[in-house]
Amino acid sequence: MDAFTTCASSLDWVDTFWQLPADYAAQIEPEPLSSPRMLHFNRPLAGHIGLPADAADDARWLSLLSGNTRRLERTPLATVYAGHQFGHFVPQLGDGRALLLGQVRNAEGELFELQLKGAGKTPFSRFADGRAVLRSSLREYLCSEAMHGLGVPTTRALSLVGSPDPVQRETVETAAVVCRVAPSFVRFGHFEFFYYHQRHALLAPLADHIIAHHFPSLPEAHAEPSARYAAWLGEVIERTARMVAQWQTVGFCHGVMNTDNFSILGLTIDYGPFGFLDGFRSGHICNHSDEAGRYAYEQQPRIGYWNCSKLLQATLPLLHDTPETAVEIAQALLARYPSVYAGTVLAAWRAKLGLAQALEGDRELVNGLLNILDRGGNDFTRCFRGLSQVRIDSHAPPPPVRDEITDLDAFDAWLGDYRARLRRENSADAERAARMNEVNPCYVLRNHLAQNAIGLAEHGEYTQIDTLMRLLADPFVERPDAGHYAAAPPPGAAQVEISCSS
Ligand code: AMP
Ligand code: MG
Repeated sequence: MDAFTTCASSLDWVDTFWQLPADYAAQIEPEPLSSPRMLHFNRPLAGHIGLPADAADDARWLSLLSGNTRRLERTPLATVYAGHQFGHFVPQLGDGRALLLGQVRNAEGELFELQLKGAGKTPFSRFADGRAVLRSSLREYLCSEAMHGLGVPTTRALSLVGSPDPVQRETVETAAVVCRVAPSFVRFGHFEFFYYHQRHALLAPLADHIIAHHFPSLPEAHAEPSARYAAWLGEVIERTARMVAQWQTVGFCHGVMNTDNFSILGLTIDYGPFGFLDGFRSGHICNHSDEAGRYAYEQQPRIGYWNCSKLLQATLPLLHDTPETAVEIAQALLARYPSVYAGTVLAAWRAKLGLAQALEGDRELVNGLLNILDRGGNDFTRCFRGLSQVRIDSHAPPPPVRDEITDLDAFDAWLGDYRARLRRENSADAERAARMNEVNPCYVLRNHLAQNAIGLAEHGEYTQIDTLMRLLADPFVERPDAGHYAAAPPPGAAQVEISCSS
């Protein structure tokens, strides 16, 4: 670190995290990378947060976004947190390779934190190197934008910088830095840290910070602090339930649903060994290291609930001075999860099937289809997209996607039920198809697509990143020239194993 940059001075920095007690974070200088190169710059996001349009081509911004210089005004921060990893409490984690550069306010008054991932060691790196490799950085870069395109709450990614610097993983790879953007990167684990270390007085200032900046209507609605905290936590629980419901209905598997990877804003965060379902398997495990399947696709809703229970445990001192009363309040808050989850997920499945009304038996109809796909391992995304071609008339030909289904007898029977259900609400084919195509994506970041982009990038070919970014930004619009990206993986591609190594 030998230089400061003033290029960022045009932005409206608020930097409120620096006003908090020093207990939450350490001030850290990023470690420079040699020969940094901007591999991709997210122009739409840059515009949204108020970055100058020419930042992508400005050497000073490259320097800032690679961690080679920093803003004059602020030393970056690495925050401390704890977390339950695979069910076991780990008393100290923290930003081992993430550095908060600052918080900007855009023209609409929205706040965004800019955080570098992979910019060097921090006091929380433990035995690791503070770096991130190109492979995992590109996966995070693409997937966070893919999720945004799908309408799933998520952290986002502003820039991907690569460097020839070697990084040792299973093999030697090269380094990269992603600049992530989110209103806040605070996790459940931040509260767990201060709770389990008996530093309960530090729970409230962090909660107050989050509420003031991200739940601004709450202080007015609840003058009394414990009522305000309860309202806030209830909202966090509900957001988490809705987020997981969205994961289920886009076929997203997070892979490492530890409480340190759960956002206090209900955002999808920390893209590691994630995966989108290709063939539908309810027991699908996307993380090769998750041998027991704790975070398998079908387990995600239950784990989201469990994680919420850990957040509530850690925030009990905010809810009431009497522990028994605090537990009662927490239990009532936690009880919101199952109903919000169930309501959200069923509404989303109905939308995916183009059902405009909510009728008795809809859940069974959804389950019937999922069971058929599960038994055959048939493609999740393609099947739902293809169902928009169903015609209500039982004499009409079946949708072409039928050819991809294994258990045809079961599917034909299901199709009969589905058509009957559509008739019950007088569904109109064209209108329904248009609605369904707005919620059933054509394109998701399938592993083999990410893998292909990684292979090319590792050989210095970066155009595929831009192609995917454009496609995934608007995944519901079918492009005539992009059939290959909507296809199921070629044989053998599904075997790519994704580990925690990043
Ligand atoms: P993760 O499993 O990626 O969510 O990471 C768990 C913890 O390990 C977090 O505290 C990370 O900051 C930290 N960590 C992961 N990889 C590295 C690395 N290469 N260098 C330093 N810390 C890391
Ligand atoms: Mg993490």
